[in-house]
Amino acid sequence: MTSLEKIIQIPRCYDSHVHWLGTGERKNLIDLSTINSFKEFIQQAPLWNHLNRGSWIVGFGWDSSRWGDDFKPHYKILDQFFPDHPVSFIRADGHSSWVNSKAMEEAGLKRDEIFPDPPGGRIERNEQGKMTGVFVDSAKDCIDQFIPQSSKAEMLSNLRLGRDVFLKAGFTHIRDVGGALTHWELAGEMARANELDLYVEMFFNLENGDQLAERLKEIQQSRLQSVPRLKVGGLKFYYDGALGSEGAYLSQNYPEKEHRGLRLYELSHIEEILHRCWEKNIPVAIHTLGDEAVHQVVLVAHRLKERGIEGLLNLEHCELVRDETIIFMRALNVHCHLQPSHFLSDRRWLKQKLGSLYQYCFPWKKLLDAGISVSFGSDSPIEAPSLEKTQEALTAAQKEGIELPPLNDPLLLHSHPDENWGNECVTTFTMQKG
Ligand SMILES: [Zn+2]
Repeated sequence: MTSLEKIIQIPRCYDSHVHWLGTGERKNLIDLSTINSFKEFIQQAPLWNHLNRGSWIVGFGWDSSRWGDDFKPHYKILDQFFPDHPVSFIRADGHSSWVNSKAMEEAGLKRDEIFPDPPGGRIERNEQGKMTGVFVDSAKDCIDQFIPQSSKAEMLSNLRLGRDVFLKAGFTHIRDVGGALTHWELAGEMARANELDLYVEMFFNLENGDQLAERLKEIQQSRLQSVPRLKVGGLKFYYDGALGSEGAYLSQNYPEKEHRGLRLYELSHIEEILHRCWEKNIPVAIHTLGDEAVHQVVLVAHRLKERGIEGLLNLEHCELVRDETIIFMRALNVHCHLQPSHFLSDRRWLKQKLGSLYQYCFPWKKLLDAGISVSFGSDSPIEAPSLEKTQEALTAAQKEGIELPPLNDPLLLHSHPDENWGNECVTTFTMQKG
């Protein structure tokens, strides 16, 4: 070790927000994250003409904010390169897809017809109101449901790939917020075959409110099959979208837009979900990225508390939280899961997109000062799980006026809070100073 290095020992090194299966799946998708301009896209696109999901071509990681202001994703661009097969290219934040004509045909959408936006979703349109081929949040789901599902064998292989990604990056504990009964069963098989090698808490995803009774039953039954390295975390669902796709629900309009983002549930419905989970002692995790999304969910939890109904509320992302919301959180059993590395991806447009809300960005310090529990994660595969990236993001954010967490070693927010769960695991991280 030189004087420019500092060693940090991280017990139970934990990535507190990951999509485990998605992390493995991403390895088999076309990687669009390395494309830095539209010119590069045009050069590379002819190489991607091979099917990787049944009869579909699926890619991940495009980010038009890096491709110049003139670039607008449109199905016609994809049609030039991919006339014969349905194509879905998922944006870097995972919340929108850019698709070609064949994909819209598969989903039963005629290009020139005018469709209303589904609740909680947005179909991007041109000035004439016609679809451009970009589908956000629940509108994306309308396309996704036609992409062939992986087989169980493929899923198992992707869970193994995902496991290796976390282990290689030094993480021994993960919190999987993209779980489902099939993954749970496959993870159980891995544990029995002694090939889990990770401590996993899995949240079961609720895609829509109609599935609530079924999910609760699955969670209760799966809990009985927990093994030392694998346990059920609770129920997870999305309330809003992401900032990059302009689906995160804000308290003000997006610049030059007539909307504040998307909401996937009515508040009365959220109240019912929280009530039904908490009466069975099931923790709930809610994707709340925008300031108004977090605020509304916290107020719902408050109303329930006044009626004597309480439980663990995990707030996912919390990228923007107003000071008044933090005050309300203090009376609740809240755990916030933040991903510093999103700062590195979002900083290009964060100030421009948020205006006066920028002051509420990445509030790790304010939350910890208020006594709220905070854990750090990556949102893998959206960002690579990486202690180096967390460190880099904290330093970069501090330079942009976002205060550091009030700890000697902020990387300890990557330590799983339960000292009784896999305490034998310690990860050594060498930090470069300066
Ligand atoms: Zn996520």
